[in-house]
Amino acid sequence: MPLPSLDAVQIQFADDMQEFTKFPTKTGRRSLSRSISQSSTDSYSSAASYTDSSDDEVSPREKQQTNSKGSSNFCVKNIKQAEFGRREIEIAEQDMSALISLRKRAQGEKPLAGAKIVGCTHITAQTAVLIETLCALGAQCRWSACNIYSTQNEVAAALAEAGVAVFAWKGESEDDFWWCIDRCVNVDGWQANMILDDGGDLTHWVYKKYPSVFKKIRGIVEESVTGVHRLYQLSKAGKLCVPAMNVNDSVTKQKFDNLYCCRESILDGLKRTTDVMFGGKQVVVCGYGEVGKGCCAALKALGAIVYVTEIDPICALQACMDGFRVVKLSEVIRQVDVVITCTGNKNVVTREHLDRMKNSCIVCNMGHSNTEIDVTSLRTPELTWERVRSQVDHVIWPDGKRVVLLAEGRLLNLSCSTVPTFVLSITATTQALALIELYNAPEGRYKQDVYLLPKKMDEYVASLHLPSFDAHLTELTDDQAKYLGLNKNGPFKPNYYRY
Ligand code: NAD
Repeated sequence: MPLPSLDAVQIQFADDMQEFTKFPTKTGRRSLSRSISQSSTDSYSSAASYTDSSDDEVSPREKQQTNSKGSSNFCVKNIKQAEFGRREIEIAEQDMSALISLRKRAQGEKPLAGAKIVGCTHITAQTAVLIETLCALGAQCRWSACNIYSTQNEVAAALAEAGVAVFAWKGESEDDFWWCIDRCVNVDGWQANMILDDGGDLTHWVYKKYPSVFKKIRGIVEESVTGVHRLYQLSKAGKLCVPAMNVNDSVTKQKFDNLYCCRESILDGLKRTTDVMFGGKQVVVCGYGEVGKGCCAALKALGAIVYVTEIDPICALQACMDGFRVVKLSEVIRQVDVVITCTGNKNVVTREHLDRMKNSCIVCNMGHSNTEIDVTSLRTPELTWERVRSQVDHVIWPDGKRVVLLAEGRLLNLSCSTVPTFVLSITATTQALALIELYNAPEGRYKQDVYLLPKKMDEYVASLHLPSFDAHLTELTDDQAKYLGLNKNGPFKPNYYRY
């Protein structure tokens, strides 16, 4: 089936207005206690900068830098790294073909012409592909980092060289962090009309410092659990004064973040930290939700013997059907080689469990921040902690038993591995389409509330990624469409459908 044009999708949206759902976010699943300039724990960047942030101790704020066109409308670590950053961006583009095809499709029509987007996200090669796509679609962008550590300095330099007003570097101080955001918002002769946020700090800053800016803002697109939670709180308090799009909970993004990304990154994180061989190892995975399913599938494929713990009979039965033994943690804790938590819950692995583990048992977490393993209970005088590698601690009992604790119980994959570019491509495409939708929506389509991406757009994000696999969709016949009561161009599922 030929992919729908952006035009077609937008026209269709107008028809589908009544189908939009407002839907409460899954608050409480991931950390909501993010301090203002702390690293975001519920979204991620794919790679740390290859350039050392300590190579030059002069603060970028003190430096006078200009790009090759003479512009100094940016603040980055070192503009001379632009060429290197450009290569990083080109590598990312290889696996972000959906955005590239969006650029091509919208070449004539420029759906973001006139859009002035102020963004606050991780600044990585993948985000650069998104920002340059937004510019290619007609937008002007000013950008800062949502995380003080995750900026790839060379990528920021490449964006600045290409003319994007970017204010970010790796290792910003708290003061730098807000200064960079402020430089994006508080500009003579330029006022943003769209916000793209990851974590809610930018939105918070505009609310606090420049509330009048909201008179011109057509919408906010928010990516993270934390930011979405803040938006729902504002909405509940009647303080949200523009429409906002919750892209975090779109189906395609969720599937990729939770199931497919974890299926790939669990092995990467474990291998990088421990060099463990999985064949024949006994592993217990706590929680058989999306993340747990991904972890179990990957471990099973490598020949590990996998046990599952669950509280929910439906998920437990699913685990049985997939060939996993469902057990209580206490039943297997003495024999397992690896313990992985992915429940979104707290104290799933207690000190009692840790006391009973065998020597060299590896313990790690893929779920909710650092609450799942009771790491605090290991900070007692009789236990010795030995840092053996970055992100790897041996906790040693008085009898010499060692437990291998990874990333101090924080999310293993976000701490110890990278996220595949393809996963970030899904998120970035979802963000781009949400911006296009909010910017072009006719008056009245969206009120001052938080919305989910319309299902048809969610489907469109997926369809833009199919050509990478030479996947060919089957087209409904008229007769079949009538029989199922569907529009031939989608949406193909009701909003309550569970994928
Ligand atoms: P989910 O709700 O689909 O699955 C969690 C499962 O854990 C549920 O089936 C639940 O019944 C079960 N559970 C709860 N308490 C339990 C307990 N005490 N013992 C055993 N099972 C228990 O959620 P999900 O999408 O799989 O996400 C799980 C966690 O992972 C969340 O905290 C989420 O924020 C996080 N997450 C991490 C990543 C990552 O990259 N590491 C990505 C997405 C989500």
